[in-house]
Amino acid sequence: AKGGDKGTWQRYQPELHGAMVQRLEIRAALHEAIEGGQFRPMFQPIVDLHTGLIAGVEALVRWEHPARGLLGPFHFIEVAEESGAIVAIGMSVLRAALSQFTRWKTDDPSTSLRYVSVNVSARQFRTPGFVDQVREALAEAGARPEWLLLEITESLVLRDADQVWDDLRALRAMGIRIAIDDFGTGYSSLSYLRQMPVDVLKLDKSFIDDILSSDQQHTMVDTIVTLARNLDLAVVAEGIEDAGQRDALARMGCPYGQGYLFSKPVWPGEITELVRGVLTDI
Ligand code: C2E
Ligand code: CA
Ligand code: CA
Ligand code: CA
Repeated sequence: AKGGDKGTWQRYQPELHGAMVQRLEIRAALHEAIEGGQFRPMFQPIVDLHTGLIAGVEALVRWEHPARGLLGPFHFIEVAEESGAIVAIGMSVLRAALSQFTRWKTDDPSTSLRYVSVNVSARQFRTPGFVDQVREALAEAGARPEWLLLEITESLVLRDADQVWDDLRALRAMGIRIAIDDFGTGYSSLSYLRQMPVDVLKLDKSFIDDILSSDQQHTMVDTIVTLARNLDLAVVAEGIEDAGQRDALARMGCPYGQGYLFSKPVWPGEITELVRGVLTDI
């Protein structure tokens, strides 16, 4: 241990030590996992609240760990961000999502599925050549740019705006659409929204949780939905867990919703069945 620096090395804390060892283990295992293709996306439906049809799907990464089983992002995404592994993981999710989506479109040209939504971390977005990598991934998968929605965070759009906004404009010029994920949890002022080069707002679950019990939350969501409509932005309400929330959102004119009420994230075969099931219901 470092000598003399009493401020840094205080008492021995077993829990902290355990957590640190685990992070180091994860970090070391990430490389092999990337090489071995152990990261795969599950997909969660995004539903048109007006028609009830599945309009899109969000790709959500899972780690198929050979010893620990299926791991969600909670177990590794922070470490992957810190180490930079998220760049490679993100690209492999993008490629897998695009090739799967192309398969859905090819298998059933009249499918209700219009797009696949893919999360992009700030670090990945700021990697030089990101825009070209996306273009190549589309070409490789035989996917159309209109099929792709990229989800980025509010803080990325606000920080070093110039370079980021240029890249966002380049992606949109290709026909790709951009969503702000977890909208409402950051600090973007509503007036700033008008200028942002984005197409979709994903309203964070924390706003949806209380829309039935809190008049204030209800008013807040209603206001954002109205504002978004006036700005020509689509809205996806996240984390819808019951029919009451869905109905309230539909009444406000919120166009899209996502949440356990409709489906958890599932493997591709189940999406195919859900899409078919919903279609025959109508
Ligand atoms: P997110 O992008 O906000 O994704 C939504 C998360 O909420 C997902 O968790 C989803 O399974 C969960 N969720 C959806 N509907 C409901 C609901 O009705 N109730 C509740 N309680 N939860 C719901 P998941 O899959 O564990 O992902 C967590 C986060 O990890 C994501 O949050 C996203 O920030 C990140 N993430 C996932 N996949 C990727 C990826 O490929 N790249 C990057 N950079 N981040 C990813
Ligand atoms: Ca997301
Ligand atoms: Ca989100
Ligand atoms: Ca979230």
